[in-house]
Amino acid sequence: MKQTESASSALRRLRVILVQTSRPGNIGSVARAMKTMGLSDLVLVNPRFEGACQHEEALAFASGAQDLLAGARVVDSMAEALQGINFTAAVSARLREFSPPVVTPREFAGQLAANGELHAALIFGNERFGLPNDIVEPCNVLVNIPANPDYSSLNLAQAAQVLAYECRMAALDGQQPASPVGFQGEAASAAQIEGMYQHLEQALVDIGFLDANNPRKLMPRLKRLFARAGLETEEVNILRGIARQMTARRRQD
Ligand code: SAH
Repeated sequence: MKQTESASSALRRLRVILVQTSRPGNIGSVARAMKTMGLSDLVLVNPRFEGACQHEEALAFASGAQDLLAGARVVDSMAEALQGINFTAAVSARLREFSPPVVTPREFAGQLAANGELHAALIFGNERFGLPNDIVEPCNVLVNIPANPDYSSLNLAQAAQVLAYECRMAALDGQQPASPVGFQGEAASAAQIEGMYQHLEQALVDIGFLDANNPRKLMPRLKRLFARAGLETEEVNILRGIARQMTARRRQD
């Protein structure tokens, strides 16, 4: 699927902020998760080690996303990290007594894709202690991945991958015509399909496959089969061509 302008623009309106990350490998993995889904704006708030983005482990885990690490900004306050942002999402495994409204990754992604005015940030916590309340409470929403209640804490980069994937899917969805069957060409009209059925039925009689006096359930079954396929105009024309040829050959015999 080609990523068009509108999909990439939704993804460009999204920043990933990592707060006090401890493991360089996780930062590298987040960069990779982001790049695979078309995200690029990464900000680190007070990472727990020097030279976070140049660290050997970060580079190794980033793999082909080292450019994203090189472009990441390292800051020492949330205020700085949130510059230019008008919609903040605390990403947390833990639900809290005083919390912004809780949404799923899919709901968050849907909001981002639907509203072109949003410049959103996904804020991820530290591997051991997550996000502090003073960062969560002022956020617009708390995004919770509804994981297994017996063990709901994902690895930081895996949580980032889930979020990035949902945002990409929502961004791409906006480009698809609303169709449950996934037409690529023009959907065939009911009249075209009906004409094709009559044509096909006659051809099946002509070749002796269908007994006009005892048709059983052949045509209803074929209709159900074709209905599942979601026929396009060109496909209907191909089927009519086949039927025409069957009839023509038979009449030559
Ligand atoms: N022990 C920490 C979890 C840290 S996991 C805690 O109790 O909060 C590191 C980060 O990954 C979290 O801060 C959060 O941003 C993200 N994360 C992990 N599991 C998640 C889940 N189920 N839903 C949302 N975010 C999750």
